Amino acid sequence: MADKIKVAFFDAKEYDINSFKLANADEKYDVQFYETRLSEETCRLAEGCDVVCVFVNDDINKAVIDRLVKTGIRLIALRCAGYNNVDIEYAYGKIHVVRVPAYSPYAVAEHAMALLLTSIRRIHKAYIRTRDFNFSLSGLVGFDLHGKTVGVVGTGKIGRIFIDICRGFGMNVIAYDKFPAKDSGIEYVELEELFARSDIISLHCPLTDENRHMVNAESIAKMKKGVVLINTSRGALIDSEALIDGIKQRKVGAACLDVYEEESNVFFHDYSGHIVDDDILTRLISMPNVIVSSHQAFLTAEALKNIADTTFENIEDFFRDGFVKNEICYNCNKVADCAQKHDGKCF
Ligand code: NAD
Repeated sequence: MADKIKVAFFDAKEYDINSFKLANADEKYDVQFYETRLSEETCRLAEGCDVVCVFVNDDINKAVIDRLVKTGIRLIALRCAGYNNVDIEYAYGKIHVVRVPAYSPYAVAEHAMALLLTSIRRIHKAYIRTRDFNFSLSGLVGFDLHGKTVGVVGTGKIGRIFIDICRGFGMNVIAYDKFPAKDSGIEYVELEELFARSDIISLHCPLTDENRHMVNAESIAKMKKGVVLINTSRGALIDSEALIDGIKQRKVGAACLDVYEEESNVFFHDYSGHIVDDDILTRLISMPNVIVSSHQAFLTAEALKNIADTTFENIEDFFRDGFVKNEICYNCNKVADCAQKHDGKCF
């Protein structure tokens, strides 16, 4: 019998371990779980393995890629959709990268709406008050979503589901996408117009070099007074210091953040009882109109199952030399004929 494919999981949490063990119930793969993130120092843990499986905050930079290649790893299996944490250009030709492009767009879109409703109806405040038998309504005035204009940036899988949810609330939807979908019935506008017209802005595009800090002092200045910002995409789409200024100036009415640009230092860990030395995050959390969740929009039972199943399918596609449908490379979006289209793999 051929040797089992060995997979080292990094940044593995209890819920990852449970879902991947369930998906590997027949023990087809030899799996090792590490709580630590993948870094130059921790690459050695993957010695003897064929695949490393990583998440959003594992920093797959040039040095890590070199170490992985030297260690004999052939595949980086991202168990997430975004891949801004991988130096995809440097990886090209050296090591293959696969991802899980969609595991539950509903999970993320629904979380975005949950944050919005919590924020504008002050549910986070009410929950704490009533637990203390404080039934005062003072300071809890919200506003109707019905009839408000929501600007959706990025109309891919998640953005479109969010649009459907918003339409269910009777909201007017406008959108911006670098590659607008044809015949979608979505009213596309330029980003400037979206900033100017929206009561609520929700970000659902990937983070790239060109859109880092797309929400900054200049763009906030163009927004409506009292605008509500939702970010369930990637933290660095928003300049956090500019956001704090915008809130202090009462320009930004509320911020719903599932992601934060410096999240890798704190998210997914329990720092209760510690002094967190990120002053920007501390300031944001201290504001009554800011809600922070720690990159949990994806975290539903359905999504975890899909992530585990697709990750193992990706690994299987790669090792049986089939068409690796979820491989990514820096060429894929740039050249019309990335080798993947005819050879099954990007190189
Ligand atoms: P998708 O690929 O289906 O859609 C992304 C859309 O953004 C596409 O329509 C694309 O054309 C558009 N786009 C690309 N560059 C753009 C730009 N510069 N400006 C505007 N639009 C641009 O992706 P998706 O599945 O909808 O996911 C969207 C993002 O959500 C991911 O990139 C990821 O960062 C984030 N995400 C977050 C979580 C979470 O738990 N918080 C989970 C999954 C995904």
